[in-house]
Amino acid sequence: MAEPLVGRPYGAPESIGHGAWSDSSARSVLQLMVESVVELGDFLVATLSVVLGDKLVTMAYAGPEEFRKAAMAVDPVTVLEPVLDQAESWGRFHFLASEDTDFDLPGTWIETASGPGLAGPDAWRARDVLIGVLKDEDGRLCGVLSVDSPTSGRRPDTQQKHLLERYAAQAERAVLTAFERESLVQRVAHAESARRLVRAASMPAQASLDAVLSNIHQPLVEGFGASGSWIQAHGPGTEPHGYARSRGGEIVLLPHHAQEIGHQLGAMLWKEQRALVITTGPGPFTRDHDFPEPLLDEARALLLSLDLHSMLAVALGAGPECLGFLALTRRAQDPSWSEVETSSALEIGHDLGAALTAARALERERHLVDELQQLDDYRTHLIETLSHEMRTPLTVISGNLEMLQDVELEPEAERFREAINRGTTRMQRVVDDLLLLAQISHPQQPVERSPLDVALAVREVSAFVESTALAKGLSLQVEVCDDDLSILGHAAEIDRMLSNLLSNAVKYTRRGGTVRVRAERHDDLVVLEVSDDGLGISRADQSRLFTSFFRTTNPDALRESGTGLGLAIVSHIVQRHGGTVEVASRLGEGSTFTVCLPVR
Ligand code: ADP
Repeated sequence: MAEPLVGRPYGAPESIGHGAWSDSSARSVLQLMVESVVELGDFLVATLSVVLGDKLVTMAYAGPEEFRKAAMAVDPVTVLEPVLDQAESWGRFHFLASEDTDFDLPGTWIETASGPGLAGPDAWRARDVLIGVLKDEDGRLCGVLSVDSPTSGRRPDTQQKHLLERYAAQAERAVLTAFERESLVQRVAHAESARRLVRAASMPAQASLDAVLSNIHQPLVEGFGASGSWIQAHGPGTEPHGYARSRGGEIVLLPHHAQEIGHQLGAMLWKEQRALVITTGPGPFTRDHDFPEPLLDEARALLLSLDLHSMLAVALGAGPECLGFLALTRRAQDPSWSEVETSSALEIGHDLGAALTAARALERERHLVDELQQLDDYRTHLIETLSHEMRTPLTVISGNLEMLQDVELEPEAERFREAINRGTTRMQRVVDDLLLLAQISHPQQPVERSPLDVALAVREVSAFVESTALAKGLSLQVEVCDDDLSILGHAAEIDRMLSNLLSNAVKYTRRGGTVRVRAERHDDLVVLEVSDDGLGISRADQSRLFTSFFRTTNPDALRESGTGLGLAIVSHIVQRHGGTVEVASRLGEGSTFTVCLPVR
C-alpha cells in the first residue's frame, strides 16, 4: 500500500484559482517542459499537474487538441491512490499496465485509441497509465507529470525510462520553484493588503485604544499568514497592556514576564528602527548582536512554551517615543519570514504608532470631558437643591410680609418693611431664574415642543413690558413683518426668552430712548431682533454676556438691579430650540440682539 498522498500545506495554494497562477512566467516554464517531453521523449501527450490544496490542477499540456479537455479536468488528489497502489515503480515514474487494472480507475484519464496498434507484451495499450510523481524536499506530493502514447507504439525500454526519470526530476524542480515564487508573490501581496487593512482598522476617528488593539488582529494574522499575534501598548506613566491572540482570535494567556520581554524588545527595536525575527531552531536570525542574548533566550523559551517556531517582532512608535510592541508568530511547518514581510511589519509599526497616539489623545480627551460633565452635573444639582431649599423660607417671608401690609406701622418700621420687601422680591427672582436655568440646561430634560406662533408671542410680551417702557418715557416699536411665523417650541420658554431680551432693552436704555422689536421670516428661519439705543455693551463684555452670573463692568448699567442670569437663560432656550443668538453693540450707542429659530 502506498503512503497516503498529502498535498503541500503552505504558500496558501488553496487560494489560487484553479488553473490560474498569478505568476505567468512560472506557467510558461512548465509549458516548455511538457512540450520538450513530447518532442524529445517521443510521446503523443504530456501533462503537468500541480497539487493545490486537495486538488490536482493541470498547469501545462502538450498533445492533440482532442485530449486537451480531458487533460485539463480537475481531479481530487486521491484519484492517484489506486494507480500508485498497483503500478510498477521505476523511480519517480510509475507504470500501470492496462491488463493489470481489474477495475475502472477513478478520475479523468486520457485514452489514446490511436497508435500503431502493435502486438506483443511490450506494445503500448490505450488504457496504459504512466505517471511521474513529483515531491518536495519533505517527500510531500506537489505535482504529477504524466505521459501517454509513445510514438514508437512500445512501452518504454530501459533507455527511455532513464530519460523519463530525468524529465521528472527537472519537472519536480520547476514545480517547486514555481511554488516558491508563487508563495512569495502572494505573501508580498498579502503583506501589502495587511498594511492597508491595519491602517483602516486602526484609524476610525473615534476608536479607543482597546478597539484599535483588537481591530487589527484579524487583518494582521490573515495578511501575514501568521498563527497568532501579540500586541501590547505601553507609554509614559502607563502599565503595558495588550493581548496575545491565536489565529482564530482567542486570547492566549502569556506568563507575566512576557510583558517585560515585549517592553524591552519594543524599546530596542524602536531605537534601532528595525524588525527582528526570533526563531527557536537554527537559522540566520537566531543570533543577533543588537540584542542581549538572555533576552532573546527568554523570547525563544516563550515561543517554545506556546509550541511556536518563530516570531516577527517590531516596535510601535511615533516620533522619538516607543508606544508598544507587536509580534506575529508562525509554527514549524509555516514558511520563514521574508524580507518583504519584515519591512511591511516595520511600516505597520509606524502606522500603528500613529493610531495609538491618536487613540491615547482621544482617551485623555474623553476622560477630561467626563470629568467636566461630572462637575457640571454637580453644579446643576447644587443649584437646583439650593434654590429649592431657599424657596420655602422665601415663601414664608413673603407670606408674612403680605400680612404686614395690612398692619399700620411707624414710618421708620415702614421703611424697614419696604427694604425687606425689595430684598425678598429680588431674592425670589434669583431663585426662580436659578431653578429655570437648572431645568433648561439639564441634558436629560429635552424641550417639549408644540406648534406656536412667534408673532403672537412677540405681541403679548411687548404688551406686557409696554407699561414699564412708557413709565420710563421710552418709545416701544413692535414690527411683525410676516403672517406665518410658526415654530415648534415650548411656549413658556419662548415667552421667557423674549421677555428677558425686551426687559433688558427697556432696563438699559435711558429716558427718551427707543426700543424696537421686529419679527420676520428669512427662508427657513424666524428672525427676531430686539434693539435699543441705550447704554450699549463694550467689546470685552460682549464675549462673556451669555455666561451665568455675568454682569457688566459699566457702572451706568450696574446701577440697574439684575441677577446676571437673564441672558444665560436666553442662550439656553435658543439652543434647546435649535436656534442661534447673537449680539451687535457699541458702548454708548445701543445694542441689537438677534435670535434665529428654525420654522416649523
Ligand atoms: P442682568 O440681570 O444683569 O440684566 P443679563 O444676563 O440679562 O443679566 O444681562 C447681563 C449683562 O448684560 C447685564 O448686566 C448688562 O450689563 C448687559 N446687558 C444685557 N442687555 C443689555 C442691553 N440691552 N443693553 C446694554 N447692556 C445689556
